[in-house]
Amino acid sequence: ARTYVVTGAASGIGAATAALLRTRGHRVIGIDIRNADIIADLSTADGRDTLAGAVDQASGGRIDAVIAVAGVAAPAPVTITVNYFGAVATLERLRPLLVHSDAPRAAIVSSFSTLQTTDDDVVEACLQGDEAAAVSAAETAVARDGGQTLYASSKRAISRWVRRAAISPEWAEAGVPLNAVGPGIVISPMTQPMLDNPEQRDALLQVVPMPLHGPSEPAAPAELLTWLTSPANTHVTGQVIFVDGGADASLRTGDI
Ligand code: NAD
Repeated sequence: ARTYVVTGAASGIGAATAALLRTRGHRVIGIDIRNADIIADLSTADGRDTLAGAVDQASGGRIDAVIAVAGVAAPAPVTITVNYFGAVATLERLRPLLVHSDAPRAAIVSSFSTLQTTDDDVVEACLQGDEAAAVSAAETAVARDGGQTLYASSKRAISRWVRRAAISPEWAEAGVPLNAVGPGIVISPMTQPMLDNPEQRDALLQVVPMPLHGPSEPAAPAELLTWLTSPANTHVTGQVIFVDGGADASLRTGDI
């Protein structure tokens, strides 16, 4: 059995991933702001310290995989601090605990929304690792247009970070595959209010066309996350794999 750390484990995709791993006999240390083995607010420095210390203690200093799922979709700076800086902190702070595994793996949940309009200032500040500048750029975006692009910006930034980090010595030479998955629309508490409203559901499916099966259950990204972080994955790294019912293929027909 392997030991997995899953953030966002209280709900939606994180809960489905934790459940799937447990079904397969693995140990899961779940992190969330509520209802989890370790309670930590990943939008804050204190919460990130708690994560690192408590996982070290709970695991005896050795884990096999990290899956960063926690995220929010608010048109507000917290979306940047959780989805980007919280996710990067999760992976970087827990990386030292992966080195003792014989098959260490890491994955992040990004989003189909990386393909949508983003705010360059926010994305750039994220990739510089400058959280204060990113929050300030996010506040500017909120004042300008209500922060509509912040969610996509947080996910664009985290997908780019994954591609860069995956080939760096810290991850590649340490033998740790690092990937992102990009779900389309997943039925979860994050999207349920929109999906329950027929007009909003239609509008959402215009923006995120899902010709194969439509919106998915959380199990769809959970299955992919589980494979990407399994010993079977030896060579897939630095990828953003869309699990989106064909949304990416529908919108970027000219690209590979
Ligand atoms: P969800 O709201 O059901 O679950 C998100 C979890 O993250 C919750 O348990 C929440 O408490 C936790 N969380 C939020 N802020 C946190 C913080 N500061 N510290 C620690 N934990 C925190 O949503 P979901 O649909 O399962 O989303 C999971 C991930 O998938 C997110 O990163 C989301 O952006 C991404 N995603 C979702 C969809 C979708 O359609 N639902 C699509 C693409 C990507």
